[in-house]
Amino acid sequence: MPRFDDLDRLEVLTVITGRLVNETPFRVGVGREPPLGSGVDLVPITIRFVDGRSVPYIPGSSMKGVLRSLAEAMVRAQGKDDVHSPLDFEKIEEEAKNGNYCIICGTFGSTKLASHIRIYDAYPETDALTFVKTSVGINREFRGVDPGILYTEQQVVPHVRWSFRMDVINIRVFPEPQDERGKLLRSLIGMLVDGMVQVGARRTLGYGRLRLEKGSYRVYGVEGGRLVKKAEGDVV
Ligand SMILES: [Zn+2]
Repeated sequence: MPRFDDLDRLEVLTVITGRLVNETPFRVGVGREPPLGSGVDLVPITIRFVDGRSVPYIPGSSMKGVLRSLAEAMVRAQGKDDVHSPLDFEKIEEEAKNGNYCIICGTFGSTKLASHIRIYDAYPETDALTFVKTSVGINREFRGVDPGILYTEQQVVPHVRWSFRMDVINIRVFPEPQDERGKLLRSLIGMLVDGMVQVGARRTLGYGRLRLEKGSYRVYGVEGGRLVKKAEGDVV
């Protein structure tokens, strides 16, 4: 059983890069909003000013939150490991005391353990056009459309290309995974390639579906105090 609290020394670094394409529109978030679904719906995609222009981007923390939820669902489906909430501080404290972390914390981190993965903010590689859509609200009390409730939302058009980079520290994922966490990360990257990952609000309506194109990996190891490339290839 590998120890998961091994981030005091770098042994292997895997850098996964590629291009994300949003197959469906993205809703643009405006600061902190009330969650429409789970907690990871918060601020799916945000505007940042770069060179005086406003540019939408997908925060790496949102991507990581979505991948963590997917990983939890997969582990739960396998029935192999207890999955606890990322806010179950009692369990997190217990894991830290025993030095025995679950596969999810051992990958994504917890308040007591640094994360083994890092996902960078994804910026558009081409112009990310946005449009404003006006919708008719739903009257919650009567469960029907209510023409009196109109709201507008800003959306990013489909098929925008976004830069993608994810670093994996001390978990071997490619060319072959070497533990359960590596296998889990391989599955998650496979889901991204297959266009099965959704980020952001309104996922039940199909919004924010991402596909990873041209995904490739580079694996580095430490030799004589410096990083040396050990392997590279395509993620599929
Ligand atoms: Zn845990």
